[in-house]
Amino acid sequence: MKTNAYAAQTATTPLAPFDLQRRDLGLHDVAIEILYCGVCHSDLHTVRGEWGGTAYPCVPGHEIVGRAISVGAQVQKFQVGDTVGVGCLVDSCRTCVNCEEDLEQFCDNTVFTYNSPDKHTNGITYGGYSERIVVDEAFVLKVPPNLDLAATAPLLCAGITTYSPMHYHNVTTGQKVGVVGLGGLGHMGVKIAKALGAHVVVFTTSSHKVADAIRLGADEVVNSKNADEMQKQLKSFDFILDTVSAQHDINAYLLLLKRDGNLTQVGVPPEPLSLNVGSLVFGRRSLSGSLIGGIKETQEMLDFCGQHHITADIELIPIQKINEAYDRLVKNDVKYRFVIDMASLKAG
Ligand code: NAP
Ligand code: ZN
Ligand code: ZN
Repeated sequence: MKTNAYAAQTATTPLAPFDLQRRDLGLHDVAIEILYCGVCHSDLHTVRGEWGGTAYPCVPGHEIVGRAISVGAQVQKFQVGDTVGVGCLVDSCRTCVNCEEDLEQFCDNTVFTYNSPDKHTNGITYGGYSERIVVDEAFVLKVPPNLDLAATAPLLCAGITTYSPMHYHNVTTGQKVGVVGLGGLGHMGVKIAKALGAHVVVFTTSSHKVADAIRLGADEVVNSKNADEMQKQLKSFDFILDTVSAQHDINAYLLLLKRDGNLTQVGVPPEPLSLNVGSLVFGRRSLSGSLIGGIKETQEMLDFCGQHHITADIELIPIQKINEAYDRLVKNDVKYRFVIDMASLKAG
């Protein structure tokens, strides 16, 4: 299936039109017409080679919402016409201990939606900045019928990446939860923590985001550059989610945790962060990481968002504006997720 897409040919060239081939429909596959695709900061890190290991041409995009246009003969969960989602994963080994525990994101042979070896084409996987995608039904999600489709796309990465660690660390009613960085992940983190009943505090470096943070559901907003404001929050948090995409001081946040509190890092700055071990030792605090979520938990998150009417705050863009959107993402100029309207790819 010839498919129009946008790709980067090198780490320093802009994304531009690119033709790719999608595989023929297998027995268990769903062919999806992509309607909307969110723009994650991981797309940018990968396209620009900031983490190393990018194969080019690179077609990013792992926040996909679309419509099933054909289904393989043995597909059971989906029918033509269904509204479906695809997130960061499109396959895994399905037999290892991680897969058996519904944690496919940690499988040694997990296949990410883009920039992973693709056994079907002997090339690499190409993501959602494209007209169509073919995915095994085991990795296709059902989209709640009551949510706006474009604003649902970011749930497939930003939603699950913030939902999963909050669940794992038992965030619940009455706890004090911090969210560091009010970008795509951060603003979803605020909405989800609020829906779980937490008292939510946003830490931002951008003074112009204060009013938005409150509108999004935060109970308090701290300017993280202001030492006095930070001081007032010492030793008071049960859990902090750090979504920052660039170099920053995590020790300042560890000191804000109560005894036994946890800070989970989901942002992946390209450079190492420095750790003052004393901030962990005093207070038996812990520092963890978390990677997206498995397929079962992603479906749970989508259903939770359906029940709580949670979607992302988005700026819908035509694909022709993608390079501008990347530049704005680096400057923290996004409210709060760009989503590509894939109709623009057909038009142009
Ligand atoms: P984003 O929309 O660009 O948001 C990042 C936020 O970090 C910014 O809005 C900004 O918030 C803050 N920030 C940026 N530069 C900063 C700096 N120099 N110092 C302090 N704060 C800064 O990005 P995103 O899409 O949410 O992604 C965030 C990170 O998570 C990326 O590294 C991405 O690769 C990673 N990620 C990880 C996973 C996972 O599974 N672990 C999944 C998806 C994404 P303020 O303006 O409020 O300060
Ligand atoms: Zn992502
Ligand atoms: Zn596995």
